[in-house]
Amino acid sequence: MGGFLDGKSAVITGSTSGIGLGYARALAAEGCDILLNGFGDEAEIETARADLESDFSVKASFHGADMRDPAAIKAMIETANADFGKIDILINNAGMQHRAPVESFPLDVWNDMFAVNVTSAMLTTQMVLPQMRERDWGRIINTASVNAHVTSPNTSGYTASKHAIMGLTKAVALETIMTGVTCNAICPGTVRTNLSEHRIDTFAAERGKTKEDVIDEFIDQKMPYHQAFRRFITVEEISAAAVYLCSEAGAAMRGAAFTIDGGWLVR
Ligand code: NAD
Repeated sequence: MGGFLDGKSAVITGSTSGIGLGYARALAAEGCDILLNGFGDEAEIETARADLESDFSVKASFHGADMRDPAAIKAMIETANADFGKIDILINNAGMQHRAPVESFPLDVWNDMFAVNVTSAMLTTQMVLPQMRERDWGRIINTASVNAHVTSPNTSGYTASKHAIMGLTKAVALETIMTGVTCNAICPGTVRTNLSEHRIDTFAAERGKTKEDVIDEFIDQKMPYHQAFRRFITVEEISAAAVYLCSEAGAAMRGAAFTIDGGWLVR
């Protein structure tokens, strides 16, 4: 097997489920070695790791660094360097969400959210960029969100953190503009993952309905003039964007917000 990423390696934070695992499988399908990161059931993570190796004949490792812990982040980057000899692609994808009115938004949750959604990406970039500059090739991709552009009530922390990661993306893109290193953000609309599943549960409970009964209503409140679309964005649609950004065709994408949202932003 193999593909255009043969001989390259990637660190993907928050890749034990959802969008991050989708990135991992899509890059591995192109021959890229992968370091997985995130929380979850140990056996399930090991299955996901072993599947990458057996399905795509690449090297895959795992490091469970907590993205709130700078020392653990450093250890994760050192592990990837030891496992693969280098890091060509960095995807900052770990993320958390919390909904609360701004007046009662808990400071500890706010700080955790900024640590995971923003600061960890700054730290990994700081640690990996020097070797990318040396080889004059690299891809840094940050998972932002439509919430890097618009918001909805009770999401002040998430929205502020996603605006911040978009800002970091633009700054890094400009600081590397004379190099072969690109930095871009992918901005998904609603993808059905653990993160959104929790939100759908709450939405259904608030209406006293079953989850499946509220799916259309849940989607419509986000994309009210696009009922014709009326579906979730798929993990595969998001990870295809990462594959493109990692290709040579993506070399001119600099500081972009690659939005895949079923028309949410143009409503
Ligand atoms: P998910 O819950 O499946 O994935 C989140 C990942 O981050 C998991 O691997 C989890 O273990 C990891 N993680 C969380 N806290 C961590 C920490 N402290 N340290 C290390 N890892 C940690 O959800 P997802 O939807 O796949 O989310 C991935 C990214 O996509 C997030 O940044 C999220 O904000 C973003 N996003 C999701 C949607 C959506 O609709 N699902 C939309 C826009 C953006």
